[in-house]
Order: sequence, then structure tokens, then C-alpha cells
Amino acid sequence: MKTEKDISRREFFRKMGAAGMAVAGLAACTEAGRRTVSTGTSEESYGEMTYRTNPSTSDKVSLLGYGCMRWPTVDGKSNGAIDQETVNELVDYAIAHGVNYFDTSPAYCQGQSERATGIALSRYPRNSYYLATKLSNFASSTWSREASIDMYRNSLKELQTDYIDYMLLHAIGQGGMKALEDRYLNNGILDFLLEERKAGRIRNLGFSYHGDIEVFDYLLSRQDEYKWDFVQIQLNYLDWKYAKDINPRNTNAEYLYNELSKRNIPAIIMEPLLGGRLSNVPDNIVARLKQREPEESVASWAFRFAGSFPGVLTVLSGMTRMEHLQDNLHTFSPLKPLSEEEFGFLQETATLMMQFETIPCNDCKYCMPCPYGIDIPAVLLHYNKCLNEGNIPAGDKARESYRKARRAFLVGYDRSVPRLRQASHCIGCNQCSPHCPQSIDIPRELHRIDRFAESLKRDGPGL
Ligand code: SF4
Ligand code: SF4
Repeated sequence: MKTEKDISRREFFRKMGAAGMAVAGLAACTEAGRRTVSTGTSEESYGEMTYRTNPSTSDKVSLLGYGCMRWPTVDGKSNGAIDQETVNELVDYAIAHGVNYFDTSPAYCQGQSERATGIALSRYPRNSYYLATKLSNFASSTWSREASIDMYRNSLKELQTDYIDYMLLHAIGQGGMKALEDRYLNNGILDFLLEERKAGRIRNLGFSYHGDIEVFDYLLSRQDEYKWDFVQIQLNYLDWKYAKDINPRNTNAEYLYNELSKRNIPAIIMEPLLGGRLSNVPDNIVARLKQREPEESVASWAFRFAGSFPGVLTVLSGMTRMEHLQDNLHTFSPLKPLSEEEFGFLQETATLMMQFETIPCNDCKYCMPCPYGIDIPAVLLHYNKCLNEGNIPAGDKARESYRKARRAFLVGYDRSVPRLRQASHCIGCNQCSPHCPQSIDIPRELHRIDRFAESLKRDGPGL
């Protein structure tokens, strides 16, 4: 149930105000998901990095945070040795352009991230950047008090520091309340970390959350006792309202953010691109986003979404390549917060993405022949093709783009599948689905496509 303090869309934009509306510098778009700029000329293109202030320590944190979980390796393989020279170059470039938050963990990069991050950052004055790391005691062999404290002390050593700016209990929620109790409560480790905060060796204490909502709610219900300085959550324009639809074990980001917001706890954002899904969207979504902002990358929309919420302290991005860093610097230097209309546009985009998932048909034809003559794979593949080419009409029917997509869908349907073999003739006997290695509910998909094609036909003449 919503409370007074829940932040509504309108309230969100009222709080945002018009601050920081300056348009970020533009650069040439060379790919859909990301923009590439040449290092030599990019300097002039950036404005000032946007910073947010942590209410408990007054830290001025860059809104773009560096996620150190994907440092480049020498051989390009995920389990290879880290390419320290390139890491140093990335860190130098990030710091030179205002990034001051670096998030690592003993678990990242096969255990190599903290050391590489420590080497790169130790070349700078310790008070010129904020270090975040985690107690990543996932394996039950590390749940003892001694093993957990060893892990914490080793983080300090690898990071070449005697204090941590942002310390997290890592991935709270996995394994439910039982894992929380065993990893942090019964062994006294949370008490230990609270003492470390009191002693100043931990400046901010928080947790990152994935999984069981009971754990998230429990830890926030003890805010008076624990006084969390921040919480790290997964937030992006798909997870805002659809996290639960994507995976029933997840919780919508709207709930998570609002729970933090009403307690005034700063949010740190992970997965702003939903594991890359929001930089690698279907062609129709690329076309939709590009039509609005031809010069901006697809990924920049997702970063702007995450960064526009006023309670967000920093948005983490695991930037392996220089062009990712440069693209993100354009987005956050300064951040151009979403307008209310753009927020609605991204919500519609999320709905479209959820509505129009491609069907995982690989044309194997094991479902054939259909006793009623339907060319099952041809129908499914036509639908997927239209989806990928942006020819699934949606939105304002008066728009030229809608009429064009409608025409392409219906004309292409008749060309790809003879009328007598189209989805409209499926009687739902379900003789086909048991043969499908992709477990596609074939009659359900055929009926959905048929309803869609019929609705397009009703939309008017003039194909
Ligand atoms: S469910 Fe439809 S497509 Fe499948 S075999 Fe029956 S009629 Fe053919
Ligand atoms: S069996 Fe499944 S994957 Fe293969 S063609 Fe039929 S619907 Fe597609």
C-alpha cells in the first residue's frame, strides 16, 4: 500500500525541479547501444559531472560510479589476468573527468578486482576518491566470525587503505532470512561492522539487495538500530514496474526505491542496464529511442532513468572499455534529468518490451506438419522478424510510423504465409506443442498473433 511519502511520478518531477537541465555534449553515434567518441576530441564535449551529497557524511559523490566487476583482462577472457595498464588508464580518465566512486568486492574478477583497483587508486591522494567494497562471504566456509573478519582485513590490505568509505553486506536476500542470520547476525559480524563504523574505519555502512524481500524489509525495519547509511538496489526502467513479471522472485524497483526514500536512505544503483539488456534492445525499441534522441545512445536512456531519482547517490556502471566510460561521461556530465513526459515515454517503452518479447522459435519444424495446415514456424518467424525490424505497430494510430509498421506487418504476413496457412486457422488442438524443444505454447502464441493481426486489419483501410 502506498504511503504519503511514496514518491509518485508527479511528485518525483516536482522534487526534481528544473535543476541540471542543461543538455549534455553530443558526440557521434556509431552503434545503437553505445556512442563512440575519439579520446582526442572528447574533452570539449563533456560538461561538469553531476554530484549528489550523502546526507550522513556530506560526501560529494559523482552520480556516475565505477563498477569494478568487469576490469579488462590481458587475453580478453573473463578468467584471465587483469590488464593493469588498461585499468590504470581507465581510472585515470574517469578521475580526470570527475568520477570519484569506485565499487569493488573480494568476489569480483575471480578475486582480482580489489587488488587491481587498489593499485590504480593508490596513485591518487586517499581523500580524492570514495572506495566501496563488500563482505562477500557467500561460501558457508567463510561464515565464521574469524573467516569474515579475515576477509574484511584482506580487503583493506588489497585496497591499500586503512578505511573503507562505503562498506556493504553483499547480496542480502539470497538464501532468505536463514542466510542473513548465519552470515551476519548469529556470528556477530554485523555487530563487528557497526563497531568498525564507530571507530571510523568504515565511514558508511549499507547492504546490497537481491532476492527475498523479507530480508530487505527486515533490515529496514531495524533502521533505528542499524542506521544504514545507504542501500544498493537494482533499478532500471524495466525493473521499475516489471521486475516481478521478469522473475517472480524479484521485487519491483519502485517499491525498493520508495521504501528507502521514505526513510531518507540514499540509494546506490546497480544493474541500470539490466545486465546489458537495455543497451541491446530489439530494433523496434532502438528505432523508438533514436527517433526521440538521434544523437544519444540507447544506453544513455537507461542511465538517465536511474540518475533522475533525487534519492540516488550514484549509478554504477561496469565499464570495461573506454568508449563505455566516455558514453557514460556524456550522460552524466551533467545529467539531463528526465522530463515527466520522458519518464512516461520510458514506461511505455518498458511496457512495449514486456508485451513484445520475441518467441524463441528456431525453425526446427519438429512441430510440423500441423493437421490443419498451419505453417507454424513461418507465422512465428514473421512475427519475430517484424518485432526485430520495428514493424510491430504501437502507440498513436494517427502517426505515420504506426501506419507504416501496420502495412509492413500485414503485407509481409500475406507474403510470408499463404492465408490458408495463417494463425487464424489454428483450432487449438495442441498436437504440436509437445514436439517443440523450445517449450513454446504454440496455440497460445498463434492465437495471440492472430488477435494482433485482426486488430491491425480493423484499424482501417489503405494497406
Ligand atoms: S494447435 Fe494449432 S497449430 Fe498446433 S497442431 Fe493444432 S491446429 Fe495446428
Ligand atoms: S518445434 Fe518449436 S522451435 Fe521448432 S519450429 Fe516448431 S515452434 Fe519453432
